[in-house]
Amino acid sequence: MPENSNENSNENKRTALVTGANKGIGYEIAAGLARLGFRVGVGARDAVRRADAVDKLRADGLDVFGVPLDVTDDVSVAAAAAQLQARGGLDVLVNNAAITGGMPQDPSKVSAEQVLSVVDTNVVGVIRVTNAVLPMLRRATSPRIVNVSSTVGSLTLQTAQAAAVGPVSAVYSPTKSYLNAVTVQYAKELAGTGILVNAGCPGFVATDLNGHQGTRTPEQGAAVFLALATLPDSGPTGTFRDEDGIQPW
Ligand code: NAP
Repeated sequence: MPENSNENSNENKRTALVTGANKGIGYEIAAGLARLGFRVGVGARDAVRRADAVDKLRADGLDVFGVPLDVTDDVSVAAAAAQLQARGGLDVLVNNAAITGGMPQDPSKVSAEQVLSVVDTNVVGVIRVTNAVLPMLRRATSPRIVNVSSTVGSLTLQTAQAAAVGPVSAVYSPTKSYLNAVTVQYAKELAGTGILVNAGCPGFVATDLNGHQGTRTPEQGAAVFLALATLPDSGPTGTFRDEDGIQPW
């Protein structure tokens, strides 16, 4: 079956989109949402990696479809939104795609190009995708926006427990601080619409992002985002949490 086939469609199913879902934590969020009964769009920029992920998830009996999506490309994002619209809309968006920009990232040594490319993916990419699909979320029942952030973006934790929140990072960590700030602003603007907007941290997870140095599995890392994606309508908005509960911005 083609990766974007609608053959398995079930009109009563809710639809989720996960960006950067071809591997790592995003793949496990996609798998977890599909196990919870969502039809899941596997957003990924590389055609081969996307098709491989879709095939693997379908081999596990999961209802997924491929969504060509480069979060840094307006045309790609618009096409992804159009694809979702043609399939009937969107209920849950998980903004997971991100890059580190390479290490080390001492503030005195980073280049403007390095900073801008990571901001474009990790922050502007989230805004691009969110705004493109927001009209569909506004029409959905129980819509949720889930931003995949990190406690390295928490200025409170970084200054209170410097040793516990990662290396000196003037690129990646500040993009997660920026993402946290953007999450708060979306939550403020969308308050009262029913769209709950929250961010989470997966913990230190073994993925390509960190050369598989993490101590948690991608499935463990995905759990907090599954919880945020399925919050009840009375649930919170504008919060940041990890597996231990609410965390300070
Ligand atoms: P990963 O294995 O490197 O996965 C990152 C995903 O993002 C890949 O699918 C990648 O696609 C995709 N991506 C990157 N740039 C993209 C773009 N322009 N358009 C579309 N997709 C793009 O990393 P991960 O550890 O699973 O990270 C997932 C999320 O968790 C990120 O937001 C990360 O910041 C966050 N996080 C991770 C950890 C951790 O310990 N791993 C901790 C805290 C937060 P390609 O395969 O095409 O590159």
